[in-house]
Amino acid sequence: MGMRLILLGGSGAGKGTQATRLSQRLSLPTLSTGDLIREAMTTDSTAHSGASEALAELANQAKPYVEKGELVPDPLMIGFIRQRLQQPDMAQGWILEGYPRTAFQAEELDFLLEELGQGVDQALWLDVSREVLVERSLARSRSDDDLAVVQRRIDNLEEFTKPLQDYYGYKKRLLMVDGSQSADVVEQQIVDQLTAVAS
Ligand code: AMP
Repeated sequence: MGMRLILLGGSGAGKGTQATRLSQRLSLPTLSTGDLIREAMTTDSTAHSGASEALAELANQAKPYVEKGELVPDPLMIGFIRQRLQQPDMAQGWILEGYPRTAFQAEELDFLLEELGQGVDQALWLDVSREVLVERSLARSRSDDDLAVVQRRIDNLEEFTKPLQDYYGYKKRLLMVDGSQSADVVEQQIVDQLTAVAS
């Protein structure tokens, strides 16, 4: 089934975990902007060729923002996603993890999907308190996870990404899940909610 899902929430909310699980369960490809940028940043840029040149370019320009816990500027992200979502492997549905993260990205995504005769089916928000986000981020201690950076990312989440709850809520496309529960329970609640809205 060609479902198009968006997974939203802070770094440490469990987006990556749930994207992997839902991707297997629903047989949908996942696009994680955070993972993509991180991987491209750690790969030797000379190793990139063809389609991944755009990614290497994105990573290069994104680096200073990611390292400080700032959002990568909208035009960069939007240009990259616009190109990526039009590739054949994304034609039959997808899970977008960590994109969109600003109202501008969400609007531009809707414009693109409208052009393609597609639409977002549901945006899933993994709701986790600030305290738990900090705790989880520091526990996994990736290189970009020092306390100041973690705090900055949460500030940006609250200022720029939280408004997407209203954006998708207004369109009746928002599902809220308590992301502080175990991964199994969160997954089950997501599946239950998706089933409920589909019926
Ligand atoms: P994540 O692993 O999803 O927390 O993403 C790691 C970092 O990548 C973020 O802190 C941002 O700097 C950058 N990033 C990922 N997705 C986006 C996006 N949609 N818009 C802007 N920046 C992003």
